[in-house]
Amino acid sequence: AKAAGRGVHRFYSADMLAGARDRQQLEGDLRAALPAGEFNLCYQPVVRTVDAVVIGYEALIRWRHPVRGLVSPADFIPVAEECGLIGAIGEWVLRTACNEAARWPRDVRVAVNVSPVQFANPQLPGIVASALARSGLAPDRLELEITEGVFLKGSDSSDRMFAALKGLGVRLALDDFGTGYSSLGYLRTAPFDKIKIDQSFVRGAAQPGNRNAAIIRAIVMLADTLGMETTAEGVEIQDEIELVRSLGCSHIQGYVYGRPAPAAEVAAALGIDGRA
Ligand code: C2E
Ligand code: CA
Ligand code: CA
Ligand code: CA
Repeated sequence: AKAAGRGVHRFYSADMLAGARDRQQLEGDLRAALPAGEFNLCYQPVVRTVDAVVIGYEALIRWRHPVRGLVSPADFIPVAEECGLIGAIGEWVLRTACNEAARWPRDVRVAVNVSPVQFANPQLPGIVASALARSGLAPDRLELEITEGVFLKGSDSSDRMFAALKGLGVRLALDDFGTGYSSLGYLRTAPFDKIKIDQSFVRGAAQPGNRNAAIIRAIVMLADTLGMETTAEGVEIQDEIELVRSLGCSHIQGYVYGRPAPAAEVAAALGIDGRA
């Protein structure tokens, strides 16, 4: 069970996904996965740069296919978004993450990824409110991670969604910053508490002459000015810790501090009983 959260196999290759029959099979398997209990969440620590204290965990979904083994979310989340399953899967993720995090110490947060498809659903604030109420998790312990993809849709509805979510008292993070449609305009009004700097900027940044460091520095300055925190993602080595610390990132996430691990392991690390 210990290995469950670790290696994720990309069994469905790009070639396979291109084939209509395999794609249909994947959709069918995905439809069955939720009722069959094939999903679970792993949690990766997020550390405060100044003192390396774990201030929270990001919930990351895992699918254990009965035949194919672990399937990467990078492979099945896009399919779930296209075939209308992301709503049910996303709701399960929210409920499960809130329930599990409610047992953690009060100063430990949980971050949950929210697909742009979920974000476009006017029922999302109600779903979040219900997950909080049922679990008893304080709203400010829940952080929703949203990608730039949400800004593709009309900005009027996204403004209303941001206001409704902030009205619940949850925190909002802008995920994978710099990789998407990167218009800076939305930073003017969208009420983010945090910018997550994508791991593609961290990769290689500690090597001399690498331009990624300059980009990270600029993102941190922008975030600081706007009163937002910054998490450097995908930090793998000590040199990268030191670099992003010197560039002023307030938080660090990556294999160097911990890989995604099942809830029971996180509970043990937090010194509590993993069982409810
Ligand atoms: P993400 O939100 O950017 O999550 C971070 C990904 O980077 C995770 O991959 C994590 O395991 C990986 N990672 C963390 N630290 C390191 C590191 O130091 N080095 C490297 N090379 N990788 C690192 P994972 O778990 O395979 O998830 C992939 C993506 O799938 C996520 O990217 C997110 O976009 C999506 N995803 C995962 N869980 C959910 C979910 O519950 N809901 C939705 N909508 N999307 C999810
Ligand atoms: Ca994320
Ligand atoms: Ca990310
Ligand atoms: Ca990503």
